[in-house]
Amino acid sequence: MKALAMLGIGNIGWIEKERPACGPLDAIVRPIALAPCTSDVHTVWEGAIGDRYDLILGHEGVGEIVEIGELVKAFKPGDRVIIPAITPDWNSLEAQAGFGQHSNGMLGGWKFSNIKDGVFAEFIHVNDADGNLALLPDSISPEAGAMLSDMMPTGFLGAEMANIQFGDKVCVIGIGPVGLMAVRGAALKGASDIFAVGSRPNCVAIAREYGATDIINYKDGPILDQVFAKTDDLGVDRVIIAGGNVDTFDEAVKMVKPGGVVSNVNYLGEGDYIKIPRAEWGVGMGHKTITGGLMMGGRLRVEKLAAMVVAGRVDPNKLITHHFEGFDKAEEALLLMKDKPADLIKPVVSISW
Ligand code: NDP
Ligand code: ZN
Repeated sequence: MKALAMLGIGNIGWIEKERPACGPLDAIVRPIALAPCTSDVHTVWEGAIGDRYDLILGHEGVGEIVEIGELVKAFKPGDRVIIPAITPDWNSLEAQAGFGQHSNGMLGGWKFSNIKDGVFAEFIHVNDADGNLALLPDSISPEAGAMLSDMMPTGFLGAEMANIQFGDKVCVIGIGPVGLMAVRGAALKGASDIFAVGSRPNCVAIAREYGATDIINYKDGPILDQVFAKTDDLGVDRVIIAGGNVDTFDEAVKMVKPGGVVSNVNYLGEGDYIKIPRAEWGVGMGHKTITGGLMMGGRLRVEKLAAMVVAGRVDPNKLITHHFEGFDKAEEALLLMKDKPADLIKPVVSISW
């Protein structure tokens, strides 16, 4: 089969690989919509997880099942499914502890385009199909469904980990597709004020549509100063980080109130340490929680998120700014993600076979 792969740090290209075999608990899926991710960019062009050779890229997509293992109960060939970016081993001890993302080791649930071939392939292998795939509702297009592989689960995780309470003031740092979904998640969780940090007009417009009450352009000066100016120097109750770098934590910790949470979903592609300001962290006693997590995946989780889309609570179509037709266009879409033109939020590739 043909696939788009990482050929070493900074290099991608089309390769031929053997069609994956289907084990008893697995499924083989043919993609009908694929989306590249900023994470693919960190992986290939920043070498964030080290070198990989001939590893098929991609972890966001919707497809049609073409084969199932003999023990798979919930799905059948012909079903249209969302393929979550994270595909845990659901019988692992970590999954039993509630953290399938880390099944069999930290980040072990992140298999696609990390420790196994990803989804930019003519055939996609999905482990533990009953636990990992999610049925695509008829009313959600495959393209919108592809936003449920990673963007919506990750942005919503950011809002969940922030433990937002009714009336909280929330700052969302970064309003690419993940941060935009975090804005929507924060609004649905009951935030009163949402300060969305970003610079590109497209993203700013969608942030407002998703519920942002204020926009902060980090290019106009420190985010911290702008947040304090808008909050009578009090800061915010929650910060969600979906952009920036290791230094972003400095401002996040400073702007969050005691008892608040800094919730990171950003993939920190560079740097050895994150920065926590000692004094503003209450000299170690400020009750300012700093947390960071990987999206969860799982059939129940992703089908519940899909139910929110069906019910009209979230419209993931707003994220899609660039549309490609045909499997061959996956490369162009990924390169677009790398170059990130100002009007790009999320590209998607539609495929018919
Ligand atoms: P984007 O690159 O599209 O968005 C990043 C956002 O951060 C943009 O709004 C950008 O602003 C803003 N930004 C950039 N630099 C700074 C800065 N110095 N200070 C403040 N804001 C800044 O990324 P995505 O939305 O696609 O993804 C966000 C992160 O989430 C990525 O690191 C991605 O790898 C990660 N991720 C994590 C997952 C998880 O499970 N935890 C899953 C999927 C993705 P501007 O508009 O000016 O560019
Ligand atoms: Zn992704």
